Amino acid sequence: MTSAAEWKEKESQYYIHTFNRQPMVIERGEGVRVWDTEGKEYLDFTAGLAVNNLGHCHPAVTEAIQKQAATLMQTSNLFYTIPQLELAEALVENSCMDKVFFANSGVEANEGAVKLARKYGRLHRDGAQDIITVLNSFHGRTLGMIAATGQPAYQQAWLPLAEGYTNVPYEDLDAIREATTDKTCAVMVEVLQGEGGVNVPTEGYLKGLREWCDENNILLIFDEVQTGMGRLGSLWGYERFDVEPDVMTSAKGLGNGVPIGAFMCKDTCDVLEPGDHGSTFGGNVLTTAAGNATVRYMVENDIPGHARKVGAYLESKLEEMRAARPDVVKGYRGMGLLIALLLQNPIAPAVVAAANNEGVLLNPVLPDAIRFMPPLIITEADVDECMEKLNRAIDTVVAG
Ligand SMILES: *Cc1c(COP(=O)(O)O)cnc(C)c1O
Repeated sequence: MTSAAEWKEKESQYYIHTFNRQPMVIERGEGVRVWDTEGKEYLDFTAGLAVNNLGHCHPAVTEAIQKQAATLMQTSNLFYTIPQLELAEALVENSCMDKVFFANSGVEANEGAVKLARKYGRLHRDGAQDIITVLNSFHGRTLGMIAATGQPAYQQAWLPLAEGYTNVPYEDLDAIREATTDKTCAVMVEVLQGEGGVNVPTEGYLKGLREWCDENNILLIFDEVQTGMGRLGSLWGYERFDVEPDVMTSAKGLGNGVPIGAFMCKDTCDVLEPGDHGSTFGGNVLTTAAGNATVRYMVENDIPGHARKVGAYLESKLEEMRAARPDVVKGYRGMGLLIALLLQNPIAPAVVAAANNEGVLLNPVLPDAIRFMPPLIITEADVDECMEKLNRAIDTVVAG
Protein backbone atom coordinates (compact mmCIF):
# COMPACT_ATOMS: atom_id res chain seq x y z
CA MET A 1 0.00 0.00 0.00
CA THR A 2 1.21 3.48 -0.80
CA SER A 3 1.73 5.47 2.42
CA ALA A 4 0.55 9.01 3.05
CA ALA A 5 4.19 10.14 2.97
CA GLU A 6 4.61 8.58 -0.47
CA TRP A 7 1.47 10.31 -1.81
CA LYS A 8 2.83 13.58 -0.45
CA GLU A 9 6.09 12.89 -2.28
CA LYS A 10 4.17 12.25 -5.52
CA GLU A 11 2.30 15.53 -5.05
CA SER A 12 5.51 17.49 -4.79
CA GLN A 13 6.91 15.68 -7.84
CA TYR A 14 3.87 15.93 -10.13
CA TYR A 15 1.45 18.60 -8.94
CA ILE A 16 1.92 22.35 -9.32
CA HIS A 17 2.47 23.51 -5.78
CA THR A 18 -0.27 26.03 -5.09
CA PHE A 19 -1.85 24.35 -2.06
CA ASN A 20 -0.53 24.04 1.47
CA ARG A 21 -2.43 20.90 2.32
CA GLN A 22 -3.15 19.13 5.57
CA PRO A 23 -1.00 15.98 5.72
CA MET A 24 -3.77 13.36 5.36
CA VAL A 25 -4.78 11.57 2.17
CA ILE A 26 -8.57 11.39 2.29
CA GLU A 27 -9.87 8.29 0.59
CA ARG A 28 -13.51 7.71 1.47
CA GLY A 29 -16.51 9.56 2.87
CA GLU A 30 -19.95 8.74 4.18
CA GLY A 31 -22.39 11.18 5.74
CA VAL A 32 -20.53 13.52 8.09
CA ARG A 33 -17.37 11.41 8.20
CA VAL A 34 -14.32 10.76 6.02
CA TRP A 35 -11.47 8.26 6.30
CA ASP A 36 -7.83 8.62 5.29
CA THR A 37 -5.56 6.00 3.71
CA GLU A 38 -4.35 4.89 7.16
CA GLY A 39 -7.94 4.11 8.12
CA LYS A 40 -8.24 7.05 10.54
CA GLU A 41 -11.76 8.45 10.85
CA TYR A 42 -12.58 12.17 10.90
CA LEU A 43 -15.72 14.11 11.67
CA ASP A 44 -15.79 16.50 8.70
CA PHE A 45 -16.66 20.10 9.56
CA THR A 46 -15.23 21.35 6.24
CA ALA A 47 -17.62 19.48 3.90
CA GLY A 48 -15.43 19.87 0.84
CA LEU A 49 -15.38 23.66 1.43
CA ALA A 50 -19.12 24.09 2.07
CA VAL A 51 -19.93 21.69 -0.77
CA ASN A 52 -21.16 18.37 0.63
CA ASN A 53 -24.22 19.94 2.23
CA LEU A 54 -26.14 16.64 2.28
CA GLY A 55 -23.04 14.83 3.55
CA HIS A 56 -20.58 12.64 1.70
CA CYS A 57 -21.97 10.22 -0.89
CA HIS A 58 -25.59 10.95 -0.08
CA PRO A 59 -27.59 7.97 -1.43
CA ALA A 60 -30.10 10.15 -3.33
CA VAL A 61 -27.30 11.96 -5.15
CA THR A 62 -25.10 8.91 -5.68
CA GLU A 63 -28.03 7.01 -7.16
CA ALA A 64 -28.86 9.88 -9.54
CA ILE A 65 -25.22 10.04 -10.69
CA GLN A 66 -24.94 6.27 -11.15
CA LYS A 67 -28.16 6.15 -13.15
CA GLN A 68 -27.17 9.12 -15.31
CA ALA A 69 -23.63 7.78 -15.87
CA ALA A 70 -25.17 4.64 -17.34
CA THR A 71 -27.63 6.59 -19.50
CA LEU A 72 -25.89 9.63 -21.03
CA MET A 73 -22.84 11.63 -19.92
CA GLN A 74 -22.55 14.60 -22.25
CA THR A 75 -24.30 16.06 -25.29
CA SER A 76 -23.20 19.73 -25.23
CA ASN A 77 -25.83 22.46 -25.45
CA LEU A 78 -26.50 21.75 -29.11
CA PHE A 79 -29.50 19.77 -27.86
CA TYR A 80 -32.16 19.84 -25.17
CA THR A 81 -31.49 17.53 -22.22
CA ILE A 82 -33.79 16.48 -19.41
CA PRO A 83 -31.70 16.79 -16.18
CA GLN A 84 -30.64 20.33 -17.13
CA LEU A 85 -34.25 21.45 -17.49
CA GLU A 86 -35.36 19.59 -14.37
CA LEU A 87 -32.70 21.36 -12.32
CA ALA A 88 -33.52 24.72 -13.92
CA GLU A 89 -37.16 24.23 -12.97
CA ALA A 90 -36.27 23.19 -9.41
CA LEU A 91 -34.11 26.30 -8.92
CA VAL A 92 -36.62 28.74 -10.35
CA GLU A 93 -39.55 27.20 -8.47
CA ASN A 94 -37.60 27.43 -5.21
CA SER A 95 -36.13 30.93 -5.46
CA CYS A 96 -37.07 34.48 -6.44
CA MET A 97 -35.24 34.03 -9.75
CA ASP A 98 -36.90 33.46 -13.13
CA LYS A 99 -34.15 32.09 -15.38
CA VAL A 100 -30.99 30.01 -14.99
CA PHE A 101 -27.74 29.35 -16.87
CA PHE A 102 -25.40 26.55 -15.80
CA ALA A 103 -21.62 26.83 -15.48
CA ASN A 104 -19.00 24.51 -13.99
CA SER A 105 -17.80 26.43 -10.95
CA GLY A 106 -18.46 29.42 -8.76
CA VAL A 107 -16.03 31.71 -10.48
CA GLU A 108 -17.46 30.86 -13.87
CA ALA A 109 -20.99 31.56 -12.64
CA ASN A 110 -19.80 34.97 -11.45
CA GLU A 111 -18.18 35.71 -14.82
CA GLY A 112 -21.51 34.93 -16.47
CA ALA A 113 -23.37 37.19 -14.06
CA VAL A 114 -21.01 40.06 -14.90
CA LYS A 115 -21.48 39.50 -18.64
CA LEU A 116 -25.24 39.65 -18.10
CA ALA A 117 -24.89 42.87 -16.09
CA ARG A 118 -22.74 44.47 -18.79
CA LYS A 119 -25.28 43.56 -21.45
CA TYR A 120 -27.98 45.08 -19.23
CA GLY A 121 -25.91 48.25 -18.87
CA ARG A 122 -25.36 48.43 -22.60
CA LEU A 123 -29.09 48.09 -23.28
CA HIS A 124 -30.67 49.88 -20.34
CA ARG A 125 -28.15 52.22 -18.72
CA ASP A 126 -26.53 54.05 -21.59
CA GLY A 127 -23.61 51.65 -22.05
CA ALA A 128 -22.66 51.39 -18.38
CA GLN A 129 -20.24 48.50 -17.80
CA ASP A 130 -18.52 48.95 -14.43
CA ILE A 131 -19.08 46.73 -11.41
CA ILE A 132 -18.73 47.82 -7.79
CA THR A 133 -17.58 45.14 -5.33
CA VAL A 134 -16.38 45.32 -1.73
CA LEU A 135 -13.13 44.81 0.14
CA ASN A 136 -12.49 41.50 1.84
CA SER A 137 -14.81 39.76 -0.62
CA PHE A 138 -14.13 36.58 -2.53
CA HIS A 139 -15.51 35.94 -6.01
CA GLY A 140 -13.04 33.42 -7.42
CA ARG A 141 -9.68 33.13 -9.14
CA THR A 142 -10.02 33.97 -12.84
CA LEU A 143 -8.33 37.12 -14.12
CA GLY A 144 -11.75 38.79 -14.18
CA MET A 145 -12.83 37.73 -10.73
CA ILE A 146 -9.57 38.60 -8.97
CA ALA A 147 -10.32 42.16 -10.06
CA ALA A 148 -13.76 41.78 -8.47
CA THR A 149 -12.30 40.18 -5.34
CA GLY A 150 -11.44 43.03 -3.01
CA GLN A 151 -8.31 41.47 -1.50
CA PRO A 152 -4.91 42.79 -2.59
CA ALA A 153 -3.32 39.42 -1.71
CA TYR A 154 -5.22 37.78 -4.57
CA GLN A 155 -4.55 40.65 -6.97
CA GLN A 156 -1.02 42.00 -6.62
CA ALA A 157 0.87 39.21 -8.41
CA TRP A 158 -1.40 39.30 -11.46
CA LEU A 159 -1.38 42.87 -12.65
CA PRO A 160 -2.69 44.33 -14.85
CA LEU A 161 -6.14 43.63 -13.41
CA ALA A 162 -9.20 43.41 -15.64
CA GLU A 163 -10.77 46.83 -16.04
CA GLY A 164 -14.20 47.87 -14.91
CA TYR A 165 -14.13 46.86 -11.24
CA THR A 166 -14.09 49.19 -8.23
CA ASN A 167 -13.50 47.69 -4.77
CA VAL A 168 -14.94 49.81 -1.94
CA PRO A 169 -14.98 49.26 1.85
CA TYR A 170 -17.39 46.59 3.13
CA GLU A 171 -20.57 47.60 4.94
CA ASP A 172 -20.26 51.20 3.83
CA LEU A 173 -23.28 52.40 1.88
CA ASP A 174 -21.78 55.86 1.47
CA ALA A 175 -18.74 54.32 -0.20
CA ILE A 176 -21.05 52.54 -2.66
CA ARG A 177 -22.92 55.78 -3.33
CA GLU A 178 -19.68 57.70 -3.89
CA ALA A 179 -18.25 55.03 -6.18
CA THR A 180 -21.38 54.92 -8.33
CA THR A 181 -21.04 56.76 -11.65
CA ASP A 182 -23.03 56.80 -14.87
CA LYS A 183 -20.74 53.91 -15.93
CA THR A 184 -21.88 51.64 -13.10
CA CYS A 185 -24.09 48.73 -14.18
CA ALA A 186 -24.02 46.52 -11.09
CA VAL A 187 -23.07 46.07 -7.44
CA MET A 188 -21.89 42.55 -6.60
CA VAL A 189 -21.59 41.28 -3.01
CA GLU A 190 -21.76 38.07 -1.01
CA VAL A 191 -24.74 38.20 1.38
CA LEU A 192 -22.26 37.14 4.08
CA GLN A 193 -18.53 37.05 3.39
CA GLY A 194 -17.28 33.47 3.57
CA GLU A 195 -13.61 33.36 2.61
CA GLY A 196 -13.09 36.86 4.03
CA GLY A 197 -13.65 35.47 7.54
CA VAL A 198 -17.41 34.86 7.91
CA ASN A 199 -18.42 38.51 8.12
CA VAL A 200 -22.13 39.06 8.69
CA PRO A 201 -23.40 42.43 7.47
CA THR A 202 -25.24 44.67 9.87
CA GLU A 203 -29.00 44.93 9.67
CA GLY A 204 -29.92 47.25 6.84
CA TYR A 205 -26.77 46.99 4.71
CA LEU A 206 -28.22 44.74 2.02
CA LYS A 207 -31.56 46.59 2.18
CA GLY A 208 -29.70 49.85 1.67
CA LEU A 209 -27.90 48.37 -1.32
CA ARG A 210 -31.22 47.22 -2.76
CA GLU A 211 -32.69 50.72 -2.45
CA TRP A 212 -29.63 52.37 -3.98
CA CYS A 213 -29.62 49.97 -6.92
CA ASP A 214 -33.35 50.49 -7.51
CA GLU A 215 -33.02 54.27 -7.44
CA ASN A 216 -30.21 54.17 -9.99
CA ASN A 217 -31.30 51.33 -12.27
CA ILE A 218 -28.24 49.32 -11.26
CA LEU A 219 -28.35 45.53 -10.95
CA LEU A 220 -27.77 43.97 -7.54
CA ILE A 221 -25.83 40.72 -7.88
CA PHE A 222 -25.60 38.35 -4.90
CA ASP A 223 -22.73 35.89 -5.03
CA GLU A 224 -24.38 33.01 -3.17
CA VAL A 225 -21.74 30.48 -4.16
CA GLN A 226 -21.05 29.76 -0.48
CA THR A 227 -24.18 31.09 1.25
CA GLY A 228 -26.74 29.35 -0.97
CA MET A 229 -28.02 25.77 -0.91
CA GLY A 230 -29.11 25.81 2.70
CA ARG A 231 -25.83 26.93 4.25
CA LEU A 232 -27.29 29.89 6.18
CA GLY A 233 -30.37 28.03 7.35
CA SER A 234 -32.59 28.97 4.42
CA LEU A 235 -32.32 27.61 0.88
CA TRP A 236 -30.83 30.96 -0.24
CA GLY A 237 -28.95 33.40 1.94
CA TYR A 238 -30.95 36.40 0.70
CA GLU A 239 -34.03 34.97 2.47
CA ARG A 240 -32.36 35.48 5.87
CA PHE A 241 -31.89 39.17 5.06
CA ASP A 242 -35.23 39.62 3.34
CA VAL A 243 -33.63 41.27 0.28
CA GLU A 244 -34.01 39.94 -3.26
CA PRO A 245 -31.19 40.39 -5.77
CA ASP A 246 -31.67 40.85 -9.53
CA VAL A 247 -28.98 38.30 -10.31
CA MET A 248 -27.68 35.49 -8.12
CA THR A 249 -24.91 32.93 -8.48
CA SER A 250 -24.62 29.49 -6.92
CA ALA A 251 -22.08 26.68 -7.03
CA LYS A 252 -20.45 24.96 -4.02
CA GLY A 253 -23.41 23.06 -2.53
CA LEU A 254 -25.41 22.90 -5.75
CA GLY A 255 -24.29 19.43 -6.80
CA ASN A 256 -23.31 18.09 -3.35
CA GLY A 257 -19.82 17.39 -4.69
CA VAL A 258 -19.94 17.43 -8.47
CA PRO A 259 -18.52 20.57 -10.12
CA ILE A 260 -21.44 22.75 -11.11
CA GLY A 261 -22.29 26.44 -10.96
CA ALA A 262 -25.22 28.58 -12.00
CA PHE A 263 -26.15 32.17 -12.52
CA MET A 264 -29.78 33.15 -12.30
CA CYS A 265 -31.69 36.31 -13.06
CA LYS A 266 -35.09 37.88 -12.86
CA ASP A 267 -37.10 38.33 -16.05
CA THR A 268 -36.52 42.09 -15.77
CA CYS A 269 -32.83 41.58 -16.62
CA ASP A 270 -33.00 38.43 -18.75
CA VAL A 271 -31.02 40.13 -21.54
CA LEU A 272 -28.68 37.44 -22.90
CA GLU A 273 -29.42 36.16 -26.40
CA PRO A 274 -28.14 33.32 -28.60
CA GLY A 275 -24.41 33.72 -29.11
CA ASP A 276 -23.89 35.91 -26.02
CA HIS A 277 -22.68 33.12 -23.75
CA GLY A 278 -21.99 29.40 -23.86
CA SER A 279 -20.26 26.44 -22.31
CA THR A 280 -19.27 22.98 -23.50
CA PHE A 281 -19.83 21.34 -20.13
CA GLY A 282 -22.11 23.88 -18.43
CA GLY A 283 -25.47 22.22 -17.78
CA ASN A 284 -24.00 18.81 -18.53
CA VAL A 285 -26.45 15.95 -17.89
CA LEU A 286 -24.29 14.25 -15.25
CA THR A 287 -23.75 17.32 -13.08
CA THR A 288 -27.31 18.60 -13.45
CA ALA A 289 -28.70 15.14 -12.57
CA ALA A 290 -26.67 15.39 -9.35
CA GLY A 291 -27.84 18.97 -8.81
CA ASN A 292 -31.45 18.04 -9.40
CA ALA A 293 -31.28 15.22 -6.85
CA THR A 294 -29.54 17.56 -4.39
CA VAL A 295 -31.98 20.47 -4.65
CA ARG A 296 -35.07 18.29 -4.53
CA TYR A 297 -33.85 16.28 -1.54
CA MET A 298 -32.89 19.47 0.26
CA VAL A 299 -36.26 21.11 -0.31
CA GLU A 300 -38.42 18.02 0.33
CA ASN A 301 -36.67 17.30 3.63
CA ASP A 302 -36.28 20.91 4.80
CA ILE A 303 -32.54 20.52 5.24
CA PRO A 304 -32.13 24.33 5.54
CA GLY A 305 -34.53 24.34 8.51
CA HIS A 306 -32.48 21.58 10.13
CA ALA A 307 -29.28 23.57 9.47
CA ARG A 308 -30.79 26.56 11.21
CA LYS A 309 -31.64 24.53 14.32
CA VAL A 310 -28.30 22.74 14.57
CA GLY A 311 -26.53 26.02 13.76
CA ALA A 312 -28.20 27.63 16.77
CA TYR A 313 -27.06 24.69 18.89
CA LEU A 314 -23.48 25.05 17.59
CA GLU A 315 -23.56 28.76 18.47
CA SER A 316 -24.74 27.96 22.01
CA LYS A 317 -21.81 25.55 22.40
CA LEU A 318 -19.35 28.15 21.09
CA GLU A 319 -20.76 30.63 23.57
CA GLU A 320 -20.13 28.08 26.34
CA MET A 321 -16.58 27.69 25.08
CA ARG A 322 -16.06 31.44 25.08
CA ALA A 323 -17.36 31.70 28.64
CA ALA A 324 -15.21 28.77 29.77
CA ARG A 325 -11.92 29.93 28.25
CA PRO A 326 -12.04 33.67 27.45
CA ASP A 327 -8.23 33.69 27.46
CA VAL A 328 -8.31 31.71 24.19
CA VAL A 329 -11.72 32.38 22.64
CA LYS A 330 -12.83 35.90 21.79
CA GLY A 331 -16.25 35.05 20.34
CA TYR A 332 -17.94 33.71 17.26
CA ARG A 333 -19.94 34.98 14.31
CA GLY A 334 -21.92 33.57 11.44
CA MET A 335 -25.32 32.28 10.46
CA GLY A 336 -26.87 28.85 9.94
CA LEU A 337 -24.00 26.41 9.57
CA LEU A 338 -21.40 28.90 8.38
CA ILE A 339 -19.76 30.04 11.60
CA ALA A 340 -16.32 31.25 12.64
CA LEU A 341 -14.83 30.89 16.09
CA LEU A 342 -12.72 33.95 16.85
CA LEU A 343 -9.52 33.40 18.82
CA GLN A 344 -7.54 35.83 20.95
CA ASN A 345 -4.30 34.88 19.18
CA PRO A 346 -3.27 33.75 15.69
CA ILE A 347 -3.26 30.07 16.63
CA ALA A 348 -5.98 28.87 14.22
CA PRO A 349 -3.64 26.85 11.94
CA ALA A 350 -2.05 25.14 14.97
CA VAL A 351 -5.46 24.39 16.52
CA VAL A 352 -6.75 22.96 13.23
CA ALA A 353 -3.67 20.74 12.91
CA ALA A 354 -4.20 19.50 16.48
CA ALA A 355 -7.92 18.99 15.75
CA ASN A 356 -6.96 16.80 12.78
CA ASN A 357 -5.08 14.57 15.21
CA GLU A 358 -8.13 14.45 17.47
CA GLY A 359 -10.23 13.39 14.46
CA VAL A 360 -12.17 16.48 13.40
CA LEU A 361 -11.63 18.52 10.23
CA LEU A 362 -11.93 22.30 10.53
CA ASN A 363 -10.73 25.28 8.49
CA PRO A 364 -8.46 28.12 9.69
CA VAL A 365 -10.20 30.79 7.60
CA LEU A 366 -8.06 33.55 9.19
CA PRO A 367 -4.93 33.23 11.36
CA ASP A 368 -7.17 33.89 14.37
CA ALA A 369 -10.46 32.36 13.20
CA ILE A 370 -11.66 28.79 12.69
CA ARG A 371 -14.48 28.22 10.21
CA PHE A 372 -17.22 25.62 10.75
CA MET A 373 -19.01 24.58 7.55
CA PRO A 374 -20.16 21.01 8.20
CA PRO A 375 -22.63 18.99 6.16
CA LEU A 376 -26.07 20.44 6.94
CA ILE A 377 -27.25 17.00 8.06
CA ILE A 378 -25.12 17.00 11.25
CA THR A 379 -26.82 16.28 14.55
CA GLU A 380 -26.39 17.85 17.97
CA ALA A 381 -24.38 14.76 18.96
CA ASP A 382 -21.96 15.52 16.08
CA VAL A 383 -21.62 19.09 17.39
CA ASP A 384 -20.89 17.77 20.89
CA GLU A 385 -18.22 15.45 19.50
CA CYS A 386 -16.68 18.33 17.54
CA MET A 387 -16.58 20.52 20.67
CA GLU A 388 -14.92 17.80 22.74
CA LYS A 389 -12.24 17.24 20.12
CA LEU A 390 -11.73 20.95 19.53
CA ASN A 391 -11.36 21.60 23.26
CA ARG A 392 -8.70 18.89 23.46
CA ALA A 393 -6.95 20.39 20.42
CA ILE A 394 -6.92 23.83 22.03
CA ASP A 395 -5.58 22.31 25.26
CA THR A 396 -2.67 20.78 23.32
CA VAL A 397 -1.82 24.03 21.55
CA VAL A 398 -2.16 26.24 24.62
CA ALA A 399 -0.07 23.85 26.71
CA GLY A 400 2.54 24.30 23.95
C1 LIG B 1 -15.80 29.53 -3.42
C2 LIG B 1 -16.36 30.81 -3.85
C3 LIG B 1 -16.23 31.26 -5.18
C4 LIG B 1 -15.41 30.51 -6.20
O1 LIG B 1 -15.95 29.27 -6.50
P1 LIG B 1 -15.06 28.23 -7.36
O2 LIG B 1 -16.01 27.09 -7.60
O3 LIG B 1 -13.88 27.87 -6.51
O4 LIG B 1 -14.67 28.91 -8.60
C5 LIG B 1 -16.85 32.43 -5.53
N1 LIG B 1 -17.56 33.14 -4.65
C6 LIG B 1 -17.72 32.74 -3.37
C7 LIG B 1 -18.55 33.56 -2.44
C8 LIG B 1 -17.11 31.57 -2.92
O5 LIG B 1 -17.25 31.21 -1.65
